[in-house]
Amino acid sequence: MNDDRTIFDSILSGEIPCHRVYEDDHVLAFLDIGPLSRGHVLVIPKERAAYMHELSDESAAGIGRVLPRLCRAVMKATGCEHYNLLQNNGAPAHQAVFHVHMHIIPKFNDGSGLGLKWSPGQLGDGETLASAIADAIE
Ligand code: 5GP
Repeated sequence: MNDDRTIFDSILSGEIPCHRVYEDDHVLAFLDIGPLSRGHVLVIPKERAAYMHELSDESAAGIGRVLPRLCRAVMKATGCEHYNLLQNNGAPAHQAVFHVHMHIIPKFNDGSGLGLKWSPGQLGDGETLASAIADAIE
């Protein structure tokens, strides 16, 4: 575990309150304090890791295991039919809190939710690139 405490450590320890929606041995989920839409939930591992690529398989599995259930709960509670999952890594990638977290962000007809700028390019060297990534998997 690294030594860089974040606000989410304080939420995990109970020093700072949150609106908790779910907790198990590996995971805590709570309402985002600055929601992009009603029902915006954060899902965090109890393990302290800043970025997804640093997370243990066990914590990652814990998050993955509960995500569909949490998404269904957000849909049921808010009535949303659409939503985004967002997970930012690094300040240039819009990460503000350096403790891994997954956002569940309902998208409503009034436009509230995640705004996206998506500028697709061209896939040039797909075969070479796919091989490079495949070879890099530990
Ligand atoms: P990021 O940009 O790092 O992916 O998102 C961090 C999120 O954490 C933001 O949506 C922000 O509103 C939320 N957040 C930051 N501090 C707190 C807090 O003290 N309590 C809660 N519930 N959410 C927080």
